[in-house]
Amino acid sequence: MTAPPPPFTPFLGARIAVVGLGRAGLPAALRLVEWGAEVEVWDDGETARRAAEEAGLTVHNPAEDRFRADALLLSPGIPHRLPKAHPAARAAEAAGAPILCDAEFLYRAVLAAHSGARFVGVTGTNGKSTTTALIHHLLAGAGRPAVVGGNLGPAALGLNILGSDGVYTLEMSSYMLERIATLRFNVAVMLNLSADHLDRHGDMAGYAAAKARIFARQTKQDVAVLGQDDAATVAMGHGLQAQVVPISGLARQKGGIWAEGRALRDEAGTILDLGEAPALPGSHNAQNAAAAAAACFALGLSRDAVAAGLVTYPGLPHRQERVAEARGVVFVNDSKATNADSAARALASYDRVVWIAGGEAKDGGIESIAPFFPRIARAFLIGRDAPMLAQTLAAHGVAHEVAGTLDAATRAAADAAFAGAAPVVLLSPACASWDQFTGFDARGDRFRDLARAIAEETT
Ligand code: ADP
Repeated sequence: MTAPPPPFTPFLGARIAVVGLGRAGLPAALRLVEWGAEVEVWDDGETARRAAEEAGLTVHNPAEDRFRADALLLSPGIPHRLPKAHPAARAAEAAGAPILCDAEFLYRAVLAAHSGARFVGVTGTNGKSTTTALIHHLLAGAGRPAVVGGNLGPAALGLNILGSDGVYTLEMSSYMLERIATLRFNVAVMLNLSADHLDRHGDMAGYAAAKARIFARQTKQDVAVLGQDDAATVAMGHGLQAQVVPISGLARQKGGIWAEGRALRDEAGTILDLGEAPALPGSHNAQNAAAAAAACFALGLSRDAVAAGLVTYPGLPHRQERVAEARGVVFVNDSKATNADSAARALASYDRVVWIAGGEAKDGGIESIAPFFPRIARAFLIGRDAPMLAQTLAAHGVAHEVAGTLDAATRAAADAAFAGAAPVVLLSPACASWDQFTGFDARGDRFRDLARAIAEETT
């Protein structure tokens, strides 16, 4: 009988405080314990603390008495600076202990395992999840041992240690990027930058600085895939150590990858007509496809492997997800579009739609998407702010009705589409969902069920 391998304990002797025991925090704490660390956990919510205790973890508030860990793993959702630092973050800072994210610990464990697995980090204001999932899909399709996680899920510390031929593709939010210390991305992707999360970052400069950390510690051997479709992202290219590959969903980039119409191209010619990639409509997805292709070329994938993977990419749930088709009408679930800007992207992707929108509107409502109103054959409005949206549509002469619920709206939208109004029923609400649902995912799940039921009845 051979002896079992010794346990893998890269954090033996390290004292780590884990604060914020949500989706990622609790599994992270358990993984760190498994990997040898002395872990203390805390959450401001009593239910989460009880769950941690039941899982056998030591519960201790690090903000009480002296901060006694070597590092603080702080959930990305909890601020360490603005708008108001959490007491645990203040305690860690006072004790000179670093505040880190789970991806940093994964990286340290992979190094400790002497694995040469590569790290791809993806960030940007919009398109992170799509590009992350797409890169992983291309890698997996090409037969590379690969895992995907981070902000997109599963959490970084839920991922296994890969061998040296493996690739980690991690979606990195600005909150996570502020909390890396040694993590170096072999390929770093920065897609685009527009105003978001300014409560946490203070101003655009602070937000851009957090995003730019994706390139920190990169060397000449590494690759920086950099969006060229907005000035703030272009500006991040100054002074980078890594080899920069410019990408664009709109215009030619010397030495880079770009889309010309629907043709995804580089200097060597067309990689793919994106018309063949049904889950990647619109010029925003052309930017995501260009970024994914650039990342995968940097990791050694062939043109054929990239093209084949773009065609078979199934898309992510709730992001222009084609959920049903009946009598020539496609039902598209874009429930993730919780603001006017992302709904505009969806409307721009189709010539003519029956539109379902509404919920809790953001400041400014839907006035900013007026340029896309001519694409709306009819609109069906739901939720709290339906009357406000109706006013805007009326002012622009768009045919609309207040349907109230998603169930009523989907049924009415399907009838209108079947009667010839448009070949697409698009749920792209431009609003948050909290007034009627537990989140955008529950709203999208409901729409998917309704659309599939209608399709089944009609075929
Ligand atoms: P994120 O993870 O950054 O929120 P997603 O990939 O989940 O991004 O896409 C969310 C929404 O953002 C999509 O439904 C789409 O409307 C819009 N979007 C996606 N990619 C881009 C892009 N490259 N540029 C601008 N908007 C985009």
